[in-house]
Amino acid sequence: MTIRIPYGRQTIDDSDVRAVSEALRSDWLTQGPKVEEFEKALADYCGARHAVAFSNGTAALQGAYAAAGLAAGDEFITSPLTFAATATAGLWQGATPVFADIDEATGNLDPQACARAITPRTRALVPVDYAGRPADLDAFRALAKKHGLLLIEDACHALGASCGGRRVGALSDMTVFSFHPVKSITTGEGGAVLTDDAGLRDKLAAFRQHGIRRGEDWLYYVESMALNYRLTDMQSALGLSQLKRLDSFVARRRAIAARYQKAFSGWSEVETETSPVDGSAWHLYVLRLRGAAAAKRKEIFQALRLAGIGVQVHYIPVYRHPFYEKLGYPRGLCPKAESLYERIISLPMYPTLTPAQQDEVVAALRRILDGLYADRASR
Ligand SMILES: *Cc1c(COP(=O)(O)O)cnc(C)c1O
Repeated sequence: MTIRIPYGRQTIDDSDVRAVSEALRSDWLTQGPKVEEFEKALADYCGARHAVAFSNGTAALQGAYAAAGLAAGDEFITSPLTFAATATAGLWQGATPVFADIDEATGNLDPQACARAITPRTRALVPVDYAGRPADLDAFRALAKKHGLLLIEDACHALGASCGGRRVGALSDMTVFSFHPVKSITTGEGGAVLTDDAGLRDKLAAFRQHGIRRGEDWLYYVESMALNYRLTDMQSALGLSQLKRLDSFVARRRAIAARYQKAFSGWSEVETETSPVDGSAWHLYVLRLRGAAAAKRKEIFQALRLAGIGVQVHYIPVYRHPFYEKLGYPRGLCPKAESLYERIISLPMYPTLTPAQQDEVVAALRRILDGLYADRASR
């Protein structure tokens, strides 16, 4: 079985290749002037004061948790419908992830469920902008303020998204992005944390680089326990080049989403998005099966893969992974996340997906669904 149409992929053109080649011929390969330039461009794009680049999104999350001062005994509340890194990066800092349930309409952490999970040990709220749609950031900001908590937004899906007319990246105490190839823009591997707070910026920068504060001449001081999580100049050159086309990438994703919505309207087996999603960066197009089709998710998934379509499922609820089960998180902890997980499939979604490829995905799905019903009718 060869996958002809993946669920996500990067968009690289000659200008990207030129930018990386130039960086390769410059005096800097690892962290140099391009990193700073990329950080400034990112912060400017989002309307934040500071950006600190990291070697990947997971390292950026860990940096945010470290800068927040999370340590043993502390809790942070996050969504179960995310990539494991959201939780594990905090666990690595010694803190305990607490999973609150989602709003099934959006797949995002439900502010009310989050509020109910707050304890005297809670230090941070960590909503995830699922599939690129911003979480209810107004509600989370109010909740964080009321309880004196830090708001750390996992926006790895949502670079280029906006919420109430403002760009994601400047709406939380810290906003975390990833530049993995399937995300809004890529640096190969890469990530960043955006913040308006200079104190947090300094902590993030120290965490990226051995906990070092520079002194005069040869002097430098290791002031905290940290390792090397630097992004390189080569990667930053790619990021700068990609950032110039971010708006066009997001526009393509929105057009593709609208085309899927239109294609699926009137299909009884699937649910199309009903709540407004204007500000979404559409990292994923998540098909929600319903009724008898939902019960056949596995067959539909396998048939799509057999047809060469690289579907995925985002996500297995984090606490259902063996590592988290061993830590004692029980099944059924977040029933809405589990029930949504049972009926979702992520369809191909990336800027260079052509209308013909998209039609092929839609036609394959139609054929597969018709086949299921034909099976049932003949039984
Ligand atoms: C991609 C992603 C991460 C991790 O980013 P990497 O750059 O792959 O380390 C974290 N959280 C979410 C929600 C992601 O999608």
